Amino acid sequence: MRRIVVGGVHRCEACRLPHRWCVCAARETVAVPLAIDVMMHRRERFRPSSSGLVVARVMEGVRLHVWERERQWTAGALRRPGRELWVLHPHGEAMPSAPAPESVQVVLIDGVWSEAAVIAREALGWGRVVSLPMSGESRYWLRAQQEGGRFSTAEAMIHLLRFFGFDAAGETLRRQFELHVYANLRARGLKERAEEFLRGSPAAEAFPGLLARLNERRPLAAPGPDRRVDSDVPGATLPPASSP
Ligand SMILES: [Zn+2]
Repeated sequence: MRRIVVGGVHRCEACRLPHRWCVCAARETVAVPLAIDVMMHRRERFRPSSSGLVVARVMEGVRLHVWERERQWTAGALRRPGRELWVLHPHGEAMPSAPAPESVQVVLIDGVWSEAAVIAREALGWGRVVSLPMSGESRYWLRAQQEGGRFSTAEAMIHLLRFFGFDAAGETLRRQFELHVYANLRARGLKERAEEFLRGSPAAEAFPGLLARLNERRPLAAPGPDRRVDSDVPGATLPPASSP
């Protein structure tokens, strides 16, 4: 497997976690007839905590776009034939009743809140802006979400799947998202917080083998960049040496 280096830490190319905490062995994928596009802020791409990347890994056929200030995205560039383009946003109209998933394309805006707000200024002009009813508390313990009933991109996707009646796919994405949150907490060295998270999580029952392996004691690595405390690195980029 190719390796990427972010902030001096060698990471799995797929899940972005340090190899010690890679969760790819438990990866599951799902396919639904909805068309999903994730418009991701450029800074979000290499953050190991990114929940938009979880959506892209789990949902087959997801198109991932990178939003950059220099590039103007248009509805024409995004639209897929034969579908109505929706943009998911809290200020949108109520969800239409009983839409056919085969005729809908949904754009999810992804980034930390300030970045998502910048993208939204353009995205609200791309299509029908709809608001998804979401209740409960966010399980995205990696970022300050709880205030104001905010949810991560992956949680919005889970609610969207449920809205369309794809409950099994929603459950798959939910346990993958939960495993992602748990492993990121562990990678940050927050073991107690991670165990507290796991007590209320479907990941505990779903992935006993992987969780046991993650908990195995490992020999200490030699001091060096790999031993750095993991955290999100805003604006981190791939070094040229590790590019394909
Ligand atoms: Zn991985």
